[in-house]
Order: sequence, then C-alpha cells, then structure tokens
Amino acid sequence: MSAVLENPYIGRWWHMLEDGRLQCDLCPRDCRLHEGQRGACFVRMREHDKMVLTTYGRSSGFCIDPVEKKIQFAVFEEQPQRATPRRRK
Ligand code: SF4
Repeated sequence: MSAVLENPYIGRWWHMLEDGRLQCDLCPRDCRLHEGQRGACFVRMREHDKMVLTTYGRSSGFCIDPVEKKIQFAVFEEQPQRATPRRRK
C-alpha cells in the first residue's frame, strides 16, 4: 500500500544523484533518498523516482477550543466578577 494519497502532489526542488539517490534541495538538510524513503521532515518522500508531498492538502493541526472563553457575567460591570465560573445545577 502506498503511504501517500492516490494522486500525490509532485514536489519541486530536487535532482537525481549519480548514485541513484534523489536529493532534495529544499532545505539545508539535503536529504538523499532511496525509493520509498521519506525526508527528515516526513513531508517529502521519494515515490516512483519523483519527490511527492505526503501532506499536501491535509490539515497540519487541530485545536479544540471552547466557543465561549470569557465568562458571560464578567461582561456586565454591575455584577461583581468572580474568580471561578458559577456551576450550573
Ligand atoms: S528535511 Fe525535508 S525539505 Fe529538508 S531536505 Fe529533507 S526532504 Fe527536503
């Protein structure tokens, strides 16, 4: 099974070396990859003698954030602020 998507995005900034490895030229690590290997970043990978991007089009992170961050009664100045929110019964 391929580790990348069905239609992988072909990356740029690489060239083939004389020893058959594919060298990525995108960052100073200069990863030299055999078939199926990923770079140190785990974003770029050699597949079928091309550099493919394994994360292209995917989300890079998720964050579950509450809709309401501020306590509602702290907005109204006439009500005293409390250090902890009131609990619903
Ligand atoms: S770490 Fe990633 S971007 Fe940098 S050279 Fe290696 S494969 Fe390319």
